[in-house]
Amino acid sequence: MTKFTDLNLDPKVLKAISEAGYEHPTPIQAGAIPHALQGKDVLGIAQTGTGKTASFTLPMITMLAKGRARARMPRSLVLCPTRELAAQVAENFDTYAKYVKLTKALLIGGVSFKEQDMLIDRGVDVLIATPGRLLDHFERGKLLLTGVQIMVVDEADRMLDMGFIPDIERIFSLTPFTRQTLFFSATMAPEIERITNTFLSAPARIEVARQATTGENITQGVVMFKGSRKDREPSEKRRLLRDLIEAEGEALTNAIVFCNRKVDVDIVAKSLKKYGLDAAPIHGDLDQSTRTRTLDGFRDGSLKLLVASDVAARGLDVPSVSHVFNFDVPSHAEDYVHRIGRTGRAGRNGKAVMICIPRDEKNLADIEKLVEKPIPRLDAPAGSATADPAEDIAAEDTTASSSRSRSSRSSSSRSSSSSRSSSSSRSSAPRESAAPRETEEAAAPAAPAREEAPKPERSPSRGRSSSRGSDNATPGMGDHMPSFIALSFEERKAV
Ligand code: AMP
Repeated sequence: MTKFTDLNLDPKVLKAISEAGYEHPTPIQAGAIPHALQGKDVLGIAQTGTGKTASFTLPMITMLAKGRARARMPRSLVLCPTRELAAQVAENFDTYAKYVKLTKALLIGGVSFKEQDMLIDRGVDVLIATPGRLLDHFERGKLLLTGVQIMVVDEADRMLDMGFIPDIERIFSLTPFTRQTLFFSATMAPEIERITNTFLSAPARIEVARQATTGENITQGVVMFKGSRKDREPSEKRRLLRDLIEAEGEALTNAIVFCNRKVDVDIVAKSLKKYGLDAAPIHGDLDQSTRTRTLDGFRDGSLKLLVASDVAARGLDVPSVSHVFNFDVPSHAEDYVHRIGRTGRAGRNGKAVMICIPRDEKNLADIEKLVEKPIPRLDAPAGSATADPAEDIAAEDTTASSSRSRSSRSSSSRSSSSSRSSSSSRSSAPRESAAPRETEEAAAPAAPAREEAPKPERSPSRGRSSSRGSDNATPGMGDHMPSFIALSFEERKAV
């Protein structure tokens, strides 16, 4: 087995790694670090949880340890799709570079330009940014990218989903041709392949197994569930969730419960709390301080169950999540991979249990096609089919209305459009699955709002090349296409 000391990393980096408690490099680290240190381009096909962040931060710190940054000319650039991921990458730099003198700046929306300008003016070794904010700075003439020696693109597949590919192409074109590129993506969609063929030069391709889907460290299962009556199905499903959680007993130390819609995140969290479970919701309609408090509580172990939307939980790094529950089957198969990848991180064991109602069977089939294996069917814990609906429905009503009022106050057009969609679909229950997904912008939880009102990251609508969009784009709808529009006429009738 490779050791960190075999990798030619700076001794100061090795010291920080050992203090972080890492014993051995993960496969993506063992594969990518030697190539990166030789100055080669790297194409890393790996998802979160594999240790991919350290696979680019450790060689970067080693390489940047020598030399000094000039004003407004960062020496390296890390592009991340969301504010939270960018903030997490910045934390990684802090951890691993604690014995190396490096300056860094984090350019994300929701933080004042002035403060970020000051940092850039002083000169930074590492600039970590979301694409939109970076281009905003560039266009204001405050930043030159001609000094970038190393450029990292992290979670390129997410960038594609969010329509950031045109921005990425532009940023590539603003950096020197001689730069070294470290490019990471969980999947290689044709559009990603095209970008890598265009901008990477003879890259070392390191592909780690899709750990979260095929790894034996995550036990997966799905409970096929049909309510006793259509109108009782939601509350019976919540009861099933409680029973599934309770059936795990002591093995469950903490869990993330995923719902497809923000309004269900609220309802499910409220319902779990009502039945004595330690749960709190996180989604994009909650204010920043609530989200931060909830995430901190989950990270430090004082909160056991985090009920989340996909976007709010993205990039959330809690290494020891014992369980993931999919209250809903995600409507995009790749979200399943991301969701269950929250457990079983860094080689630990994890368990992922999903509830599938008849309407979601097609989505389940899509997931099984993507992960190339069937998800074992589980029996519902005894007695789960009957609910205690009266109490629970009351919880649903109050939560739904409070969510509606919050939505109507939302200031961002993107978040308000998604909130509107959520709340309006709430009022017509049979159309639940037709609700559009929460947008990244609405949920990006990491940026503290300071002098300015949070400004949307550069509009991804400029990106006409969303992976989803490339197959089924609807002109004029940008990323906000309600998913029911993509349904066939027969499917629309069915919802
Ligand atoms: P990432 O895939 O970068 O999101 O990393 C997932 C988690 O693995 C993070 O919590 C890291 O702190 C942790 N990690 C990264 N590298 C190692 C390693 N070599 N050994 C143990 N844990 C690691």
